[in-house]
Amino acid sequence: MDRLTIVIFMLLGFSFLFMEEYNFRGISLQTANYPSFKVVGVLIILISLYMLLKYTKTKDEEEIQDEYTICPNCKETFNYDDLKKGKCPYCKDVDTVDIEQYYKDNPEEKEKGN
Ligand SMILES: [Zn+2]
Repeated sequence: MDRLTIVIFMLLGFSFLFMEEYNFRGISLQTANYPSFKVVGVLIILISLYMLLKYTKTKDEEEIQDEYTICPNCKETFNYDDLKKGKCPYCKDVDTVDIEQYYKDNPEEKEKGN
């Protein structure tokens, strides 16, 4: 579910709270006569707020997972989370470096890789 859908859902909840009257095919409904409308409105707003927060959190977690490092010795690339203290598992005690930083410092290596 994308963020826009959640925001529209939340606006629907606010309309339940603040609209005094609904008109649907000539039938008008006074929300004041139906107190449960307000309760449902509050529930919808709370649920959409929760989903909005959860959605944002998931987005951050995805960004952390995309951190790749490269070993300057054997040129293997790794996901940083899979390494112990950022050390290359093949070359003992060799620190891997951030892959973007590595290609910035060694632009010729990138062309070789392609
Ligand atoms: Zn290595």
